[in-house]
Amino acid sequence: MSIKYICCECDKKYDPKTLVFRCECGGLLDLEKFDFIFSKEDILSNEWNLFRYLKTLPFDDSFNLWKDLTMGEGLTPIIPLEKDNPNLLVKVDYLMPTLSFKDRGAVVLISKAKELGIKKVIQDSSGNAGNSIAAYASRVGIECDIYVPEGTSSKKIKQISSHGAKVHIVKGTREDTAKAALNAVENGEGFYASHVYNPFFYQGTKTYAYEIYEQLNGDLPGSLVIPVGNGTLLLGCYYGFKELLDLGLIEKIPKIIAVQAKGCAPIYRAFKEGKDSVDEVTNTGTLAEGIAIAKPMRGKQILEAIRATEGEIITAPENKIVEARKYLAEKGFYVEPTTAATFAGFINYYNANNSELDGKVILPLCGAGLKKD
Ligand SMILES: *Cc1c(COP(=O)(O)O)cnc(C)c1O
Ligand SMILES: [Zn+2]
Repeated sequence: MSIKYICCECDKKYDPKTLVFRCECGGLLDLEKFDFIFSKEDILSNEWNLFRYLKTLPFDDSFNLWKDLTMGEGLTPIIPLEKDNPNLLVKVDYLMPTLSFKDRGAVVLISKAKELGIKKVIQDSSGNAGNSIAAYASRVGIECDIYVPEGTSSKKIKQISSHGAKVHIVKGTREDTAKAALNAVENGEGFYASHVYNPFFYQGTKTYAYEIYEQLNGDLPGSLVIPVGNGTLLLGCYYGFKELLDLGLIEKIPKIIAVQAKGCAPIYRAFKEGKDSVDEVTNTGTLAEGIAIAKPMRGKQILEAIRATEGEIITAPENKIVEARKYLAEKGFYVEPTTAATFAGFINYYNANNSELDGKVILPLCGAGLKKD
């Protein structure tokens, strides 16, 4: 499919073949809108992976490279967390090949990289996105360099290097890590397979919405609780529901309740101050490393998405994360601290609102507990 990138600031278009990752004006690249037909009948119901929604993805119907890549990602269960509360549902997105939801984005992004004939990819991550890109790149024989900040869980680093990827540990902040990866890309060392910059990643995360639509038979939840650091799940989920709305398959997009860590909450701050763009903050420390993004590049788009759903943004109290992790484990789910923080933030909000929920709520369990001590 000869789909183009389009700059979110100046609308300039680029062919993905040029390997450009940012507009010359400095704007981030989105994917040009592409038309497709989709209804329940178009689901490839014999595919037990997210390519069952191939019709909605930016590939030709004849595209079949994904068959070499898929490891059965997606199609994660949606189940009540507690038996007494049928309205609180968790979507167990850590049940993925590399144990986090990032596989949704990575499998689509690496499929596209393979289609473009890429030989080497570069990426920076606080861990899980790197795990995922490394696994899929390895599976199709693409060389891979991953940049991570010092302090990243040693388990995640081991996981990345076990796939044969080269791990670069960068001193300083998460932002310094991003800079180091960008330098390598600018030096022509490889294709920037960034989950933040590369819009194909969001085409994968949007399947989160299509699955909810299919699994709940169109009986949508009132709210979606979503952790937000760089917003790759949040934006993908929003794009997916927006497409379903535009296709006339749903009447309303569920309200997005975004969760940030109290120690690093730039989007929360901008939202509460009524701003349209997000200023960088200083990360004062949090256990929720997966959402500790002091300068989210797509902050403006994240704010727009939350507001478009008449949503809300909340923070997770740091002193409740360990307790929340324990509680989820009591219910049978062993998650990483970032996921516990998402739950802690939600419970705080729920209690403050006298436990009143408008319809069902879906909260994703994004990362597995074994990823971190
Ligand atoms: C990546 C990640 C997040 C946050 O996703 P963003 O795309 O940065 O908003 C949350 N939880 C886990 C477990 C993650 O791996
Ligand atoms: Zn531009």
